[in-house]
Amino acid sequence: MLPFKLIYHEKYFLPIGNHVFPADKYRRIRQKLIDAAVAEASDFIPPQPASDNDILLVHTPEYVRKLKTGTLSVHEELEMEIPYSAELVAAFWLAAGGSMLAAREALNDRAAINIGGGFHHAFPDHGEGFCMVHDVAVAIRRLQQEEKISTAMIVDCDVHQGNGTAAIFAATPMPSEPLPSSAPSMLKPAARMRLGHAGDVFTISLHQEKNYPAWKPPSSIDIDLPDGITDDDYLAWLDNALSSALRRFKPDLLCYIAGADPFREDQLGGLGLTIAGLMKRDELIFQVAKTRAIPVMVTYAGGYAQRLEDTVTIHANTVIAAKQVFSS
Ligand SMILES: [Zn+2]
Repeated sequence: MLPFKLIYHEKYFLPIGNHVFPADKYRRIRQKLIDAAVAEASDFIPPQPASDNDILLVHTPEYVRKLKTGTLSVHEELEMEIPYSAELVAAFWLAAGGSMLAAREALNDRAAINIGGGFHHAFPDHGEGFCMVHDVAVAIRRLQQEEKISTAMIVDCDVHQGNGTAAIFAATPMPSEPLPSSAPSMLKPAARMRLGHAGDVFTISLHQEKNYPAWKPPSSIDIDLPDGITDDDYLAWLDNALSSALRRFKPDLLCYIAGADPFREDQLGGLGLTIAGLMKRDELIFQVAKTRAIPVMVTYAGGYAQRLEDTVTIHANTVIAAKQVFSS
């Protein structure tokens, strides 16, 4: 039995037809973890859907009304890049409930993984990039309202910048601040760190600079990575971002958005990470959280490998990495 919970529901499946987003990945990840004896069926617990009031902690009443009544404009549906249906709304409400449950369980067990969620391109008033509602933001705001946490840190390692996250927890850019003196000296490629002020939620995004979204609202720390960056440079930047962030900010909860799309064979990404490098990324974040006694909740976000099996492996490895770190 795992030392933490996996949050899963068969209705995480997104009814979006033939789409680059592999809607079946959640079921496959669960099956792979059971087949490989990483997890048992009893390690998985099902969430309840978020309530409309939960969603309204982050999203505007007007946007929620449009989603509930099926009255998005053609432009709004195109911007979301997934076909609207009432079933799709239910799947996103369930994903948000899953992230709320993962956050609660993480406070009990040091860690918890939602085998779904991570819809970081959703803004308060609209959806974008396959994301309808921002499940992680909903989870944070819900736990803050219940006074279970007062602060949180989001570490977003999806290949695409967390624009919705940045907009929701708006940080103010600080362009004049110099790079921390600990910036790794080998980082000669055109990667750069941008810093902003944080409010009660500190946001970090490591992403490919020349990729969607074109407009990248400022996170508390943005790491703009050059095309093709490989494991060692990526891990050095992640390490640097985490230590810079944790010098400035002490979160009650760490929300790790573990996108599988920095993988070098991703169809929507242009970075050069290997499957082993992605697992080292997971281990680094879990080690930092464990060492500093910060509960960590995980969501999965994107993953569009040419072979679906690779996306499933990368996501399953995140559970294996957590098991290795949190078993002691
Ligand atoms: Zn992505």
